[in-house]
Amino acid sequence: MIVLKGIGVFSDISFGTLLIKTDINEGISKIHVNDTEQELQKYYLAKNSACEQIRSLYEEALQKFGTSEADIFATHEMMLKDKDFENTVLDIIKNQKLNAEYAVLQTSKQFSEIFLNMNDEYMRERANDVKDVSCRLINCIQGKKEIREKNIENCIISATDLTPSEVSELHKQGVKGFVLSEGSACSHASIISKVLKIPSVVALREQLKPEYNNQKVIVDGISGIVYIDPDEITIREMSKKKAQNDEQKNLLSSLKGKENITKDGIKINIFANLNSPEEIDEVLQNDSGGIGLFRSEFLYLNRNSLPTEDEQFEIYKGIVRKMGSKKVIIRTIDIGSDKRVNYLNLSKEINPAMGCRGIRLCFEHPEIFITQLCAIYRASVFGNISIMFPMIISLEEVAEIKKYIKEAKNRLSERGIEFFPNVPIGIMIETPASVFISDELAKEVDFFSIGTNDLTQYSLAIDRQNGKVNHMFNMHHKSIMRMIKMVVDNAHQNGIWVGVCGELASDESFIEKFLSIGVDELSVSPSYILSTRKKITEINISEIKDNILKNI
Ligand code: PEP
Ligand code: MG
Repeated sequence: MIVLKGIGVFSDISFGTLLIKTDINEGISKIHVNDTEQELQKYYLAKNSACEQIRSLYEEALQKFGTSEADIFATHEMMLKDKDFENTVLDIIKNQKLNAEYAVLQTSKQFSEIFLNMNDEYMRERANDVKDVSCRLINCIQGKKEIREKNIENCIISATDLTPSEVSELHKQGVKGFVLSEGSACSHASIISKVLKIPSVVALREQLKPEYNNQKVIVDGISGIVYIDPDEITIREMSKKKAQNDEQKNLLSSLKGKENITKDGIKINIFANLNSPEEIDEVLQNDSGGIGLFRSEFLYLNRNSLPTEDEQFEIYKGIVRKMGSKKVIIRTIDIGSDKRVNYLNLSKEINPAMGCRGIRLCFEHPEIFITQLCAIYRASVFGNISIMFPMIISLEEVAEIKKYIKEAKNRLSERGIEFFPNVPIGIMIETPASVFISDELAKEVDFFSIGTNDLTQYSLAIDRQNGKVNHMFNMHHKSIMRMIKMVVDNAHQNGIWVGVCGELASDESFIEKFLSIGVDELSVSPSYILSTRKKITEINISEIKDNILKNI
């Protein structure tokens, strides 16, 4: 068995026989011609047929998938009609007296090269579109109707790269997956694979050897792994993984777009905790109602210097854009304690969990804090952003935060940068101090999010990092639920909403308690979204609420 790793494109698994596809330019020879008029004629006729083919692909894609995928073919039509491209082809035929298909191939190489040398990843991907259009033109010149292989139903196609048209065409012919040595997650071949729900692995960075042809192959688009000639154990494991994945997908389709509502009509939002921007696809796949906690400090870890305002802005903008109108709550950096940032050269603390972490560190380093606030406010015009602050223990801290927010807004205004001035401001309730003054804090902010991980740590005096006392780290301790109830009551009495974003939020045995005390939102790891949503639809709160409240 050979195991290769790349980037998974559509999260499903497929089994098939490997078919290695030869490159388009193989078999095109350079031929000197005397009758250049005839070659020009061949080119013009091919251009008309290619144009007709692209238009019909455009119409088909528009009906099946919508404008953004159809636009790929609109771009192809533009490229086909591009004067520079055409003039280069005509020049090779007329002046170098070469055959039409070779002229197209040479022009294609020249233009792809220009795109490949560009800095922008999106523009580099356009090289593939040039290849696609050229390949279609060459096929038309040679009188081949479409890129049809022999009997390829149930095959997994391996190639260097594929063009979007090839992906659509091969899908029609029953191909079950793609393994590409080049490409990226955002190449058009990947985009079309995703739309057509074809599990694929791209960017393997190595060509499959010809001797693998006709071997059994498994494409795991979830993990981005390809198994060639898989052994029995792998086949069994992958079949099981596929069955679980199918089950998840069925569950998703039954819940997709629906509100999370109990049998007796109680609504609750189910949001996702996000630790890095890469997790956003999983958040979207699981149809999360929003992002309840983006742990922004992860942008500061595993690097050698602070992320700049621009870097952060691009990341926040990317996330909110992907989430559309859904809420994205960005928590300002919670560095310190177990999240160490070496390049800040922070002094060693005897008890870091109780030391300079979270908001305290931001107050110690105002420029870091203001830079982050500026980046978040800049991104606020691109979606539905809220900001929340960690480790709050006092009203004075909230007042201090508001000063920094004002400063960040002033700086942006002075620079003439647009921002949304009324971004909702929330705080994390994760210290007993904030719980007991939550009635007063609620008057100062727009929402609360209860961090049960730290609330447990600080309430039970159990270091969450210390393995010696880990068995006593009991999130189910009665005191925690009593505190959550107190916070919810105080929040609601003051007209603000309250969520729970610690690990307790994804504990299924606690969902009934959260619903009974009126928690408005639960923010869980992406992989818990579906099961939490399913559980909610199965509960009838009115039947159990009194009993639950009595026992809190
Ligand atoms: C928490 O403390 O519950 C929380 C969500 O924050 P973190 O786990 O990042 O400290
Ligand atoms: Mg915390």
